[in-house]
Amino acid sequence: MRKLDTKTIVVASHNAGKIREIEDLIGPFGFSAKSAAALNFEEPDETGTTFEENATIKALASAKASGLPALSDDSGIVIDALGGAPGVYTANWAETADGTRDFAMAMEKVEKALAERGATETRDRTARFVSVLCLAWPDGHTELFRGEVEGHVVWPPRGDRGFGYDPVFQPEGYETTFGEMSAEEKHGWKPGDASALSHRARAFKLFVETCLKA
Ligand code: IMP
Repeated sequence: MRKLDTKTIVVASHNAGKIREIEDLIGPFGFSAKSAAALNFEEPDETGTTFEENATIKALASAKASGLPALSDDSGIVIDALGGAPGVYTANWAETADGTRDFAMAMEKVEKALAERGATETRDRTARFVSVLCLAWPDGHTELFRGEVEGHVVWPPRGDRGFGYDPVFQPEGYETTFGEMSAEEKHGWKPGDASALSHRARAFKLFVETCLKA
């Protein structure tokens, strides 16, 4: 396990929602971070079939392009009644004919698929958000961290905060969706906090415990 010994890193993402959340998480550590989007790095093809593979592809691409350690996130929603779909293809479900992403449409697709399976009761709509963070160095070394949060898919969507599928995901033990939560409630985590809620914050906590702590 390798420690991170620089305070300058690249956030290996082109997704504005993820970049915002990762910047919130790394803020308390005094990192100077630029995103792959801000650096105009090309988005690598996500050819893997697991979150781990795709996170590694993205982190290595940014580490090699920048010469700096790079932190990526590959994430998605895994819905039990859909056999784990959309899973690693969560972003793809939002793709439109003109190459843009439409998450209202993607959430409708999910709801249609659940309705086709007769999954109307909460117990039939269990799901989890998964985030795998990869820290890659320019020499090719990588470290992986996985975070998950259990919950269920609600319909109709609720809340206009967050990004992506947040309005249809209600974490276990909460009455609100991620789309209704503040940034602090969804992914707020700082050193010393015993727990974190979101999948990304949980993966980040592992990253801190593994790569930052002495
Ligand atoms: P990818 O990791 O770039 O393949 O994309 C993952 C997709 O999963 C994103 O485009 C979002 O739609 C969705 N996703 C991942 N994390 C979250 C989250 O915290 N809230 C809502 N949607 C998410």
